[in-house]
Amino acid sequence: MKTDTVSLLDIQRLNKSFGDKPVLKNVDVNVEQGKTLVIVGPSGSGKSTLLRCMNLLEPIESGVITFEGRDIATPEARREAWRFRQEMAMVFQHFELFPHLSVIDNIMLAPVKIKGVPKAQARQKALELLERVRIPDKANAWPEELSGGQQQRVAIARALAMEPRVMLFDEPTSALDPEMIKEVLDVMTELSDQGMTSVVVTHEMSFARRAAHRVVFMADGEVVENLPTDQFFGGEVKPRTRQFLDQIL
Ligand code: ADP
Ligand code: MG
Repeated sequence: MKTDTVSLLDIQRLNKSFGDKPVLKNVDVNVEQGKTLVIVGPSGSGKSTLLRCMNLLEPIESGVITFEGRDIATPEARREAWRFRQEMAMVFQHFELFPHLSVIDNIMLAPVKIKGVPKAQARQKALELLERVRIPDKANAWPEELSGGQQQRVAIARALAMEPRVMLFDEPTSALDPEMIKEVLDVMTELSDQGMTSVVVTHEMSFARRAAHRVVFMADGEVVENLPTDQFFGGEVKPRTRQFLDQIL
């Protein structure tokens, strides 16, 4: 098996507080090129905050965030946060589509407005992406006409339209009715299989088993466990991790 890996996004000794409450404590996380990292942990453990720090949506107190070999957490790099953010697409629990734009316009907006992609080209790409997320017939629908699962797949297509280097998913299926969860996870699994670098915060352990290369377990702002998927689910884990797994499996 090939074992050489390239780090795309590397977090080292990251510390962050809200007020006087530390929410990330010396967090080390490494995201390898082409791999899927799943982050699990109880509510309030700092998962969303970690994703927001990765995406430079939150200031940090100390630590290093290296993206493609460059420290992006320095004040100078932060001034170009918009540039890095284009390379790191985020998909949220609540899809946050633009309600006044059709599905295809939702997907075309950023490539046309931010990247200056010609409209015809952006439209062609958007149609391809709608095929990829398995709703090719919804281009001209309005977001409110779609099910939650379809809206989330549009949100994924919209994120992919910017051709990011990494996709950050924050509990993308938590707001969905059970029967719609699979259709979204299937699309994410396919992306993972195709080598899209992904960081996924989720409680869906079947997805983690199937798609993750590594699993990180966080509790109280700390990385408790960081293991290859097989070891995480099959091997020796710390008591705190075992307790969490026993609760949800
Ligand atoms: P998770 O995503 O694992 O549920 P979060 O990253 O959302 O955890 O939150 C971690 C901790 O930080 C929680 O105690 C939460 O209440 C707190 N927190 C998150 N966002 C803010 C904020 N903007 N202001 C103050 N506290 C916050
Ligand atoms: Mg969260």
